[in-house]
Amino acid sequence: MTDHLIQGTAANNTIRLIATVTTDLVNEACSRHNTSPTASAALGRLLTGALLLGRTFKDLEILMLQIRGDGSLGSATAEASPHGTVRGYVNNPEADLPPNELGKFDVGKLIKGNGSAMLNVTREAGFEIGLRKEPYTGSVPMTSGEIAEDIAYYLNRSEQINSAVALGVFYEYEQAQVTAAGGLLIQAMPDADPNILVMIEDTVSRMPHLTELIRNGADAEQILQEALGIIPFDVMERIPVEFRCRCSYERAVSLITALGEAEIKDMIEKDNGTDLTCGFCNETYSLDEAALRAILTPPIVM
Ligand code: ZN
Repeated sequence: MTDHLIQGTAANNTIRLIATVTTDLVNEACSRHNTSPTASAALGRLLTGALLLGRTFKDLEILMLQIRGDGSLGSATAEASPHGTVRGYVNNPEADLPPNELGKFDVGKLIKGNGSAMLNVTREAGFEIGLRKEPYTGSVPMTSGEIAEDIAYYLNRSEQINSAVALGVFYEYEQAQVTAAGGLLIQAMPDADPNILVMIEDTVSRMPHLTELIRNGADAEQILQEALGIIPFDVMERIPVEFRCRCSYERAVSLITALGEAEIKDMIEKDNGTDLTCGFCNETYSLDEAALRAILTPPIVM
């Protein structure tokens, strides 16, 4: 099953629903960055959370989730577009911890250590129509550090939207890879019937774990069915989601160009070229001597 995301509504549009299966894209991100098992869980949850959140705001072009904590992971970043693409990285991909007392990945400790952490949410819009609005950033202290609860806390506090978030990443030690990942976001509008909310809270608390459903072949719609129980819902949209970076060879060239002539001449003389690695996707772009000389002597444009 390829990665996908669905959006739906229930109870006369008073409940908004988003569910996603992100196994392949999380696995790609983790193999690109060579993350440890616990760092894979952290990165996978953050990427999936960014995709969910990226679908909740109108007119949005980029949504960035950033974690800064005292734990050994350092910081972590995920950036999603409303079109279903996401990219991201963690500062210390090799950081790892033994499982916590529940036998689960100790993502909270990896992020917070013995201290604290902040979750920053940045929304940018307006690029495509040439009206670059100031990016909006909101921050909340991370209470659990397990990411899903922290995103829910952000939505409840900063956006005043009553929200429940679940994120899951299953890491198979024998295969040394992520074999299931996904997420669920349920939002109640202010006019939602409190009785319906109680019903949903009840079914969500009793539903199987997300990665268990996904490992058994459930798609995003079946995840919503498990979450809502007998409450009917409508699926409004289904889109593919994927790991995709915005870097390119052309961007690498323009970054090198911006360094200026002296620096580029230095690269030619000392190293006969240069390598540039993208932090978001770990892709390396090599500019050889000829490529660097081409930057110094741009073609004549008439
Ligand atoms: Zn990249």
